Formats: sequence, structure tokens, C-alpha cells
Amino acid sequence: MSIEELARANVRELVPYQSARRLGGKGDVWLNANEYPQAVEFQLTAQTLNRYPECQPKAVIENYARYASVTPQQVLVSRGADEGIELLIRAFCEPGQDAVLFCPPTYGMYSVSAETIGVEYRTVPALEDWQLDLQGIADTLDGVKVIYVCSPNNPTGQIINPQDLRVLLEMTRGKAIVVADEAYIEFCPQASLVGWLSEYPHLVILRTLSKAFALAGLRCGFTLANEEVINLLMKVIAPYPLSTPVADIAAQALSTPGILAMRERVQQILDERQRLVEALQNIPCVEQVFPSETNYILVRITASSAVFKSLWDQGIILRDQNKQPSLSGCLRITVGTREESQRVIDALSAEKV
Ligand SMILES: *Cc1c(COP(=O)(O)O)cnc(C)c1O
Repeated sequence: MSIEELARANVRELVPYQSARRLGGKGDVWLNANEYPQAVEFQLTAQTLNRYPECQPKAVIENYARYASVTPQQVLVSRGADEGIELLIRAFCEPGQDAVLFCPPTYGMYSVSAETIGVEYRTVPALEDWQLDLQGIADTLDGVKVIYVCSPNNPTGQIINPQDLRVLLEMTRGKAIVVADEAYIEFCPQASLVGWLSEYPHLVILRTLSKAFALAGLRCGFTLANEEVINLLMKVIAPYPLSTPVADIAAQALSTPGILAMRERVQQILDERQRLVEALQNIPCVEQVFPSETNYILVRITASSAVFKSLWDQGIILRDQNKQPSLSGCLRITVGTREESQRVIDALSAEKV
């Protein structure tokens, strides 16, 4: 047998997640991964690298619990929110038997994690306004153990109606886990479902330091849930999911001054987003600018593939969303610095319609 044939069938068939980094490009304006545009400086303080780290570093857990207004028992820290997505499938889904569900267009890792583990995934396309098709979900729920709802949604940028989420949570009580992916919640903190944890034992919330906290390179994310869920996830997580330097920097980022600095960055991005939206609306090749509650903007563009390629060749790297259901002609633009916005505006304005 060839090495290829030795691999699991689902791994042979797997198309890996097309991350912004993997897609490459040779740009000087990187607006394809929803990162914060500038690096924030940190110094390492922990020097005990001869020792294994704590599995769940106390300072990180306590600081995040304080920031998120939950108890430390309701917090799990992991190697990015992406690891949280996977841990939930590993803890709750029996391969070959149970399924996960999500509503495209949305984040690509839900399907990749399910496929890697060998768990079926079902999709219920979002409605025309990208809200939940609750009837469609109800009709597809049999055997579903985990439902991922990204709010605000990547890549469309809107918040999922809280009333619909209530209906979903009632529909799934005692049957399935509902995961609210709040990777971008710092840009619209009033929309968080964290206050609902006491009402719903099956609600799980994913968070990350990769976006508003400007630490995508750190690889640090959080799962918020009731203690029963956290204890199950603790059984399947790696013994040392975070390295000592990661825990060190995460604790600093979540200190009171760290949180204040994050809130200032958020305000700066929101101001810049407003400016970019207004400019995009006046560019001939831009057909539609969708409202955003996040640090990225989805736009529909005339001849979008050619425009995407043209900007790529000029070193401006955006995210092409053409292949997602209902997003033909759509590109996603991360809100970067003033200078980066200007480069995008100038390049798009120069495109002929
Ligand atoms: C960026 C992102 C993540 C991944 O976060 P990491 O902590 O970097 O793994 C999860 N969900 C959504 C919707 C994201 O956009």
C-alpha cells in the first residue's frame, strides 16, 4: 500500500482550510485575514522554560473571566478559537453517527474540523438577509449534536437576530450544543450572548485574542460555557495546550491596561471602517457595501475576480468570497490603517467598469 492509501479515507479526500496565509500572495497591503494592522509590543516575564506550563494558566483564566463577566469555572483557554471548534466536535460527536450543523455563508473551519475528525456536517443556507432559517434548521436537526452560529458572522459582517437565537436555543434544549462564535464581538460588545449562559446549559461561546486584541500570531482563544461543558472539554484537550510564553503574553493582554488599549484599538478601527464604507460607496465598480459590525467589510464588485486579481498584482491582498453560497461577486476587505484604506480606495477607483 502506498502511504497515501494508508491514510484515512476522509483525510485523503480532505481539502485543507484555505487560510489567508496558505493562499499566499506577495503584497504590502494585507487585508485578507481580519488581523489588526499593527503589532502591539510585549515583553516576556516568565523564564521557567525548563518546566511544563500549567494546562489552564491561572492568571489567563482569571483575567479572561473578569473581562467576560463569567466565573473562572466557565472559561477554557486553547490554541486559538479554532482549537475550541475542534474540541467541541471531539467531546460531543460520535464519528459516523452524530452530525454538526452550520449556516453558510460562514467561517470555513466548521466543515474542515468535522471532516478531519470524520463527523458528518450538514448545512442549512442562511436566508436572503443572512439570518437563520429556523424552519430549515428544525427540519435538519435529527442526529445533530453541535450547531455553530457565527455572530457577528464572518464574512457577511452582521449580527444574528437575538430573538432567532432564543428560538434556536429552545429548539435544541436537551438535544444539541449551540456554539456562538464571537470572534469579532469586541467590535459590537452589546451583542454578546454571555449573559445567557445561566439560562441555557447547552450554550457555548467562542472568543479569541486574534482580532481586536491584535494577537493573531499568539494563537490564543477561549471557550465560555457552563462548568459541565467546560469539564468535558477539559477531558479531551491536550495536556499543555499553551506554551509558557503564550500564557505570559495573554495574561498581560488581559490586564486592565491591556483591555483599555484593546478598546482604543476598536474605536480606531470603527472610525476607519466608517471612512472606508463612505469612500467605497462612491466607487463605480462597487455595486454594494454591506453593513458591518466587525473589522471587515463585505462588498459586491463588478467583475470581482478580475478586480481581485488586479489588486493582488498591485500588492493589495483581499479575500475573495465568490465561492461561498450567495456571495458571488463579493470580496471581503479587512479594515486596516488609514494608509491601507487609501491604497484600496485608489486602486478600486482606478478600475474600469
Ligand atoms: C478568526 C476566526 C476564528 C479563529 O480564531 P483563532 O483564535 O485565531 O483560532 C474563529 N472563528 C471566526 C469566525 C474567525 O473569524
